[in-house]
Amino acid sequence: MHPDTRMVHIEAPALTGSTPLAVPIYQTSSFSFDDPELMADGMHRPDGAYVYSRFANPTVRALESAVADLEGGVAAIAASSGMGAITMLLHGLLGTGDHVIAQHSVYGGTHALLADLAKRYGVQVTRVDGRDPEEVRAALTPRTKVLYLETIANPTAHISDLPALAPVARAAGVLTVVDNTFATPIFCRPIEHGADVVVHSATKFLGGHSDVTGGLAVFADADLHQRIWAHAVEFGAVADPFAAWLTIRGLHTLGLRMERHAANVARVAAWLATHPAVSQVTCPGPGAAKHITGFPSAFCFDLAGGYTAGVRLMSRLRVIRAAPSLGGTQTLMLHPASTSHRQLTPEQLRESHISPGTIRIAVGIEHPDDLVADLEQALDFAGS
Ligand SMILES: *Cc1c(COP(=O)(O)O)cnc(C)c1O
Repeated sequence: MHPDTRMVHIEAPALTGSTPLAVPIYQTSSFSFDDPELMADGMHRPDGAYVYSRFANPTVRALESAVADLEGGVAAIAASSGMGAITMLLHGLLGTGDHVIAQHSVYGGTHALLADLAKRYGVQVTRVDGRDPEEVRAALTPRTKVLYLETIANPTAHISDLPALAPVARAAGVLTVVDNTFATPIFCRPIEHGADVVVHSATKFLGGHSDVTGGLAVFADADLHQRIWAHAVEFGAVADPFAAWLTIRGLHTLGLRMERHAANVARVAAWLATHPAVSQVTCPGPGAAKHITGFPSAFCFDLAGGYTAGVRLMSRLRVIRAAPSLGGTQTLMLHPASTSHRQLTPEQLRESHISPGTIRIAVGIEHPDDLVADLEQALDFAGS
């Protein structure tokens, strides 16, 4: 054959007798076949042969299997972001005129998605506090399809009573969907407490290094996975092999990182509560809920000096970085009133449980002495 042909037909060598220690990146869009039957089969079921990477890809599958296993589910679908997973799932579960019962306090993107589903498809949404099974029972209608909760809500750290609420939904034939981004399967496995689907922003703790955007939906039931997989293939917001590979690399240290995050949070939260410039620390501690065995590294504290103190504090950080997001190795801080929530009126800020002096901190895995020293010099400046 001519060089022009040979240079485009470079084959991946078949492995004989050895296995790669790390999951390889299968950076390929398609797979070739000798057997047309096998190709057709892979196009119609999630566990058939690999055909096309929007349907399934071995690197992405390794991530899906690992997270499904950690969460105690049967299978998972990896998406291009946390919102990609949530949007793909809710579009797959809901139709025009269906009804959702959702916790008041949910991630901003999820809030916006529910509002969009309401406007676009007439999906009715009833908000509940998330702690009272009677409130859920009273909200049920014949069109209710989904109960939507967050294990530990972003940004309020509000904890839903999943073990009490899920049985009410199940008895009514309603699926319980839980966003477990904050707790991770290290601190809570919602399927063990009655959830049907668990969603994640893998951008946060699962990836864990602020270098990848990704999401997952994990299923307790194989039939539901099969149904949503068919929809995910059409929806197309699937994970890319390299993003999946980075997330797998992050997963190796999830347990170690969560342990260190939790130890650092305990130290930083307790220290903050003693500083005169800090008026309040909102950080759920051990014992806040039986089904959660550890607490997230993101929490809020309020400055006595209000808005001005918030701006001064953020301008003085030396180790801690001013940035949104959470779940990475580095400690990040955000002053919502001057950044993410700048356009809100004082009234709307109050409704979001944010005061002009609220600071959101996502504690990383640095040495806690360095974090406390940085906070001390910045708070002394902010409070002066
Ligand atoms: C960040 C986040 C999301 C959205 O994830 P992306 O990866 O940014 O799309 C969803 N839920 C929670 C709780 C989050 O913190």
